Amino acid sequence: MKPFQYYRPKTIKDAITAVASDPDAQFIAGGTNLIELMKRGIVSPGKLVDINHLPLKRIERRQGITSVGALALNSEVASHKLIRQYHPLLTQALHAGASGQLRNMATIGGNLLQKTRCTYFYDTALPCNKRTPGSGCGAIGGINKQHAIFGVDEKLSKNPCIAVNPSDMNVALLALDVQVLVAGPGGQRKIALADFHRLPGEHPDVDTNLERDELILGVEIPDSVFTKHVHYLKVRDRASYAFALVSVAAALDLDQNKIKAVRLVMGGVAHKPWRLYEAEKALVGQVISDAVFEQAASIAMQGAIAYEHNTYKLKLTPQAIIQALKIATSF
Ligand code: SF4
Repeated sequence: MKPFQYYRPKTIKDAITAVASDPDAQFIAGGTNLIELMKRGIVSPGKLVDINHLPLKRIERRQGITSVGALALNSEVASHKLIRQYHPLLTQALHAGASGQLRNMATIGGNLLQKTRCTYFYDTALPCNKRTPGSGCGAIGGINKQHAIFGVDEKLSKNPCIAVNPSDMNVALLALDVQVLVAGPGGQRKIALADFHRLPGEHPDVDTNLERDELILGVEIPDSVFTKHVHYLKVRDRASYAFALVSVAAALDLDQNKIKAVRLVMGGVAHKPWRLYEAEKALVGQVISDAVFEQAASIAMQGAIAYEHNTYKLKLTPQAIIQALKIATSF
């Protein structure tokens, strides 16, 4: 690992100034992803600005909005009474992520910024447009079992990337209409979660619309009708400590058996959390039934593209959608 300077700022403003004034500086919080990237030589910041002592851990609810500080730990948020009561979908998604040890170290801000788990990205001997734009994509034509089926058109991009966003939390946050509160040298702004993560386009090396010198302060989760009929379904190779092959966040508001409102978001299928807008439209106003769920899943799959080793996702994904909807509406 390349030697680096360590700096512990006293205030949020101090932290932002430290990163804004040094193009080689980077924020660090839980470090569960960043340290691994540094050990492997994928990133080599000259200075780490440690934000762990800044006052960004609070979880509170005011005027129908639950605010979660960027430094709140994944485990703390998952088990917090406000989250369990008002946003149980988030509790489920956080509990599905990583392992108990990692959830006790990883922060909400860091989870938003998790890098893909594409194995070619982590192997500096192999080409990867996300790590080194223009070098090629090892996964296209390689082992691409974990990779995207939506939001990719490699033939249209000079720097194709078929990686997926690895976070479970991000899938639930998109279903819950979350805003990300950030601060930079020019002040604060809010970014809707739907606009926070990017598709790869020509710049797969850029995962989010956060500026380099902007610090995530926290997320704001508005109250919603999705407090009862919710389910986060994660399909993975083993029961714990594995990333999603596909995942589905299903949240519904029912009037008897009729669907008044619904959110369907998928993980493990695209470069960003993938909301199934057309499937949602098809579900609203319908009476719940297997046929209605199957029709929605069929609509959701329009435009899916598979590669050599992830064709199984074309069958697994609609089944996961149907299963998540069935479970969410079963109680
Ligand atoms: Fe790199 Fe993306 Fe290709 Fe993986 S899929 S090798 S991250 S360019």
